[in-house]
Amino acid sequence: MSLRPLHGHHAIRSRLAAAAADGRLPASLLFTGPRGVGKQRLALWLGQLLLCEQATRERLPEPCGGCLHCRNAARCAHPDLHWYFPLKLRKGSETPPEEVALDYAEAVRERMDAQGVWGGSDGSVGIYIRAVNALVLRAAMRPAMAARAVFVVGDAERMASQEASKEAANAFLKLLEEPPPGTTLVLTSSEPGLLLPTIRSRVVTVRVPRLSRDDMERFLDDPEVVRALGKRSREEAVQEAEGAPGRVFGDAAHEQAQAQGERLLRAALLPASPDGTAARVLVAAQQGGKGARGGFSSALDVLVRLLHDRAQQLAMAGEEGAARRIAASVLAVEEAKVRAHGNVNPQLLASQLLVTLHRALVP
Ligand SMILES: [Zn+2]
Repeated sequence: MSLRPLHGHHAIRSRLAAAAADGRLPASLLFTGPRGVGKQRLALWLGQLLLCEQATRERLPEPCGGCLHCRNAARCAHPDLHWYFPLKLRKGSETPPEEVALDYAEAVRERMDAQGVWGGSDGSVGIYIRAVNALVLRAAMRPAMAARAVFVVGDAERMASQEASKEAANAFLKLLEEPPPGTTLVLTSSEPGLLLPTIRSRVVTVRVPRLSRDDMERFLDDPEVVRALGKRSREEAVQEAEGAPGRVFGDAAHEQAQAQGERLLRAALLPASPDGTAARVLVAAQQGGKGARGGFSSALDVLVRLLHDRAQQLAMAGEEGAARRIAASVLAVEEAKVRAHGNVNPQLLASQLLVTLHRALVP
């Protein structure tokens, strides 16, 4: 799996590459711009360029794409290209840095499995103290493979607040102010106003503009992207995205999770007939393998919401017994969510969950 190719942003790429070649690139950067415009992708591109062994002035602004560093960076598997972004908080406040690294390796793999496409960060995720601590510790170490190290922090406004740990926040500020030689930090944010002034004052801001119509067209030439459009026409997608290609996926992923959640509920509610059972088997099989875990988790989130709504409606209609049964079945979905996180195949989880839900919902 590789990252989806970077489209557009040619002027910024040239500027960044020229600055890097002349040794003028600020060590701490902040990419701002609309959600979905490709800020993290651009930051990873810059990471690859900085790590590339063959990035010669003649070839600028692009990294060579063929050296070991480039190949690893393109798969997000370079030990000196670090990528942090909001994650769900794990239970237990003390997580050793090695486990944080494993959590991020897993989360990056999910983003890669999804072909470099991910939804926006909802309210349940953050860049927690443990991640900030791990980043600071890693930055203090020597690069593992390349001559330099690059740290990308996506959705940086979701970094734990200073109140959560003054020590970690101060260590991070110190790092931003004066990164070790050969270290580059790139923060990205579509809401820079939410960043602490102490962070904003320590970074050089680069505004990432929307893609031009031509670049959006080129982006839409990718067959994978066309698949993600679903029922929308190319023109509709261009209009909706407003120059932010990520929005083409963001909305599609959201719609897909909604439809998938609804399908799961409908299948659970079908009667205990051979047809009903066959439909449940089919819907479970549609959930995809391990690579589909991200999408499956989102579908389960939708399912929880649908069950809550349904319980509320039934309670209001005076059907308290049915409402209680549904509320209890939410637990089974929550449990499936935890297991989906723990490497269990979505198809297997869905088939077990549908049996449990069916028993709870169809007396
Ligand atoms: Zn290279």
